[in-house]
Amino acid sequence: MLRVAVVGSGPSGVYTAQSLVEQTLVPDVRVDVLDRLPCPYGLVRYGVAPDHEKIKSLQNNLRAVLEHERIGFVGNVPVGAGGVSPERLLELYHAVVYCVGAARDRRLGVPGEDLAGSFSATDFVSWYSAHPDASAFGFALDGRSAVVVGVGNVAVDVTRVLARGPEELRPTDVPQSALGALAASGVREVHMVGRRGPSQARFTTKELRELGTLPSARVGVEPADLALDPAYADPSGLPAVNRRNVEVIREWAAAPPVPDPAARSIRLRFFLRPVEILGEGGRVAAVRFERTEPDGAGGVRGTGRYEEIAAGLVLRAVGYRGAPPEGLPFDPVRGTVPHAAGRVLRDGAPSRGEYVSGWIKRGPSGVIGTNRPCAKETAASLLRDAPLLARRTVPDDPVAVLRAWGLRPVEWPGWLSIEEAEAALGRTLGRGPVKIPDWPGLLAAAGGG
Ligand code: NAP
Repeated sequence: MLRVAVVGSGPSGVYTAQSLVEQTLVPDVRVDVLDRLPCPYGLVRYGVAPDHEKIKSLQNNLRAVLEHERIGFVGNVPVGAGGVSPERLLELYHAVVYCVGAARDRRLGVPGEDLAGSFSATDFVSWYSAHPDASAFGFALDGRSAVVVGVGNVAVDVTRVLARGPEELRPTDVPQSALGALAASGVREVHMVGRRGPSQARFTTKELRELGTLPSARVGVEPADLALDPAYADPSGLPAVNRRNVEVIREWAAAPPVPDPAARSIRLRFFLRPVEILGEGGRVAAVRFERTEPDGAGGVRGTGRYEEIAAGLVLRAVGYRGAPPEGLPFDPVRGTVPHAAGRVLRDGAPSRGEYVSGWIKRGPSGVIGTNRPCAKETAASLLRDAPLLARRTVPDDPVAVLRAWGLRPVEWPGWLSIEEAEAALGRTLGRGPVKIPDWPGLLAAAGGG
């Protein structure tokens, strides 16, 4: 038997486990999917926006894999600092595949970034997704205006959640405290701001278009911004996604929203790069942007002209960054673990028994499905190495060893108890399942409490 640990139970981890058991090259592979949290599914549970029910339903596919007879879920097991080191984990398994994503947010590096009211979008997403590490975050939603920096899909998600009315979010699994805060929100204008042009934005067209369909919000664009982008007037030469994005924005520009005092407004802005977050009494009050212009090589240059946008809340949605468990090699420039076809490289040579897949392998880009081929490549490398890996003796019951080491793993029945508790919580609130947002609540529920 070949015993493998996959660290991380998001899509890349689950697809890796699936690739390892659904093959015939090496019979009898047994996979434990470990997670730091007592709950599986990674960013599908804690990153996909609550109102994206269709993508969320992918959990059903991931669940089917985790219920495979040769796959086990082992939650509440931190790997790295404060938990099991990569070195010790290799005592328990023939191989370990790290599928830990890109857990950190990138920073802007401008003055004022740490003022109260300035957050990473990741923190905001974690909060409305009930991530137990985010239960203490308090979001100031009393200001009228919010600025979202960045024009990728995360920016679109947080803009949309801020612009939705509470009745639109109530049917989702958003935690009760976040629902209450969003219902009481005073935010009426959300400015989503890109440093380059509309033809270079990173969002995908379906996500962009959805902003124009929200029942209680209207999208507006700024003709002066759009005119700066040479590809705006004639998008025919652009790659398909960018061309379609520009076409949507052109439709919005051609039919500006009819003023509606009851509606929230989404302002989509371009060619503005943040240079400072301005405060008042220790809290954010505005963002100062420098107007940019195309540099002719796909980038932008500053123009020395500035604009301020008032904001009581600033969310930077400028991408994620890898943060692998302590004890693994890391390439700080790429933000990934160095690897060759998924084999972790230590000092340039493959490290026996250590592999990576997903964002920690290739960086934070692509959609959920991108993880499938990525997982297959890593699994193929591992299976090719299997004869060498299987020479070592490992314990029959690694979970028992984890317990003996003082950890308190939450296995599949514990997760099912959490699910039941969330359904019960929802019933008491007259809602569908409602997520438990804190560690004590999750661990009590996992124990049947
Ligand atoms: P992203 O797609 O890389 O977008 C990052 C945005 O931040 C870009 O607009 C980028 O502009 C901007 N940016 C970076 N540094 C900046 C700076 N210093 N100042 C101003 N702007 C800056 O990242 P993401 O939105 O976090 O998404 C990560 C991945 O998750 C993507 O693959 C995304 O598609 C995926 N995702 C998908 C969904 C979905 O399918 N519904 C939802 C969420 C996330 P430049 O282009 O100029 O660098």
